[in-house]
Amino acid sequence: MKVPFNDLRLQHAPIKDELNEAIAKVVDDCQFIGKERNPYVLAFEEAFADYVGANHCIGCANGTDAIELALRALEIGSGAEVIVPAQTWISTAEAVTMAGATPVFADICALTNTLSPEEIERKITPRTRAIIPVHLHGLPANMPAICEIAQRHSLKVIEDSAQAHGACIQNQHIGTFGDCATFSFFPGKNLGAFGDAGCVVTNDPQIADRIAGLRDHGRAQASDHSFEGRNSRLDGIHAAVLSVKLKYLENWVQLRQKAAERYLTKLPLGRFDLQSIPSGYTHAYHLFALQTNRRDELRSFLDSREIASGIHYVRSLPQLTAYQKLGVSPDDFPNAQTHSQQTISVPLFPEISAEQIDYVSATITEFFNSSAK
Ligand SMILES: *Cc1c(COP(=O)(O)O)cnc(C)c1O
Repeated sequence: MKVPFNDLRLQHAPIKDELNEAIAKVVDDCQFIGKERNPYVLAFEEAFADYVGANHCIGCANGTDAIELALRALEIGSGAEVIVPAQTWISTAEAVTMAGATPVFADICALTNTLSPEEIERKITPRTRAIIPVHLHGLPANMPAICEIAQRHSLKVIEDSAQAHGACIQNQHIGTFGDCATFSFFPGKNLGAFGDAGCVVTNDPQIADRIAGLRDHGRAQASDHSFEGRNSRLDGIHAAVLSVKLKYLENWVQLRQKAAERYLTKLPLGRFDLQSIPSGYTHAYHLFALQTNRRDELRSFLDSREIASGIHYVRSLPQLTAYQKLGVSPDDFPNAQTHSQQTISVPLFPEISAEQIDYVSATITEFFNSSAK
């Protein structure tokens, strides 16, 4: 049996007509560009803000720009330090650099794999201005502890929620804990557009207003530019597609959670580690990742059985060539390094079948039994 890592065709097939109609409407209206009054962009922004439970949503070109726009709106740039987890997708740190500030890595917690509050405290200096926790793989970071630290040190919090649409802490949606939160609608995320797209959500009207200007050349009104911004708008077609898909998001997240539950009943638990989920936290299962010191062997074994897998991420940020300039040693981030060496993501997507989950689980069981260590 062949098991893909994800198959978006299965997600689109049952709603193909609805998606095509939504796109055709934008084409008929020629509402392609996400200017201030694009009705498709406005409709999606309102619906997504509602979904998250935030007052404002500002669409933009992608989830990386969203972080940079959030930092710029908070006036965090040159001379500022921003604390980011040492194990995440490069965007989290890259956006800090692009905003003119310096990313400062803090190690992740060995159990949850998200930013460690204790490590944040060790990295705070007089130049620290913000913390960007990442809800890695869909598991909320420890927001109560992180927000408490931020408050004590007068720091801003931007939640990088690119992997966690649908995740909650005590039924409160992630994206509503920090000063603002960023989402990516890259096609493979829990909610994906038909290309690159992203947004920032916030309860602060001033931050919202500032981002709305920054994403569209600083335009406050048609005849003048009150400041310089950039072009990072959300396209009409993407917004229309996202509005259709948003109606199904909650169901898709539940299907992800059901798939994870089935894995938990079928896998040989105890032979590897999983992200541990704090009580009251709801994992949105963007990824289902196992941790084992036999990761590479397991990956080849799955390959040989036509089961796709992924590694998120092969190198921690301090190990990347791009960050050698910071002069930090990867050894100072042992949990991030171990995570990069031992973690493997196995197929989990809303449409994955019970048979596929059982086959993946049986194959993993066979692997651990066949060459018991
Ligand atoms: C996907 C992702 C982003 C950025 O997404 P793009 O839309 O591709 O720019 C940022 N942070 C994390 C953690 C991500 O996984």
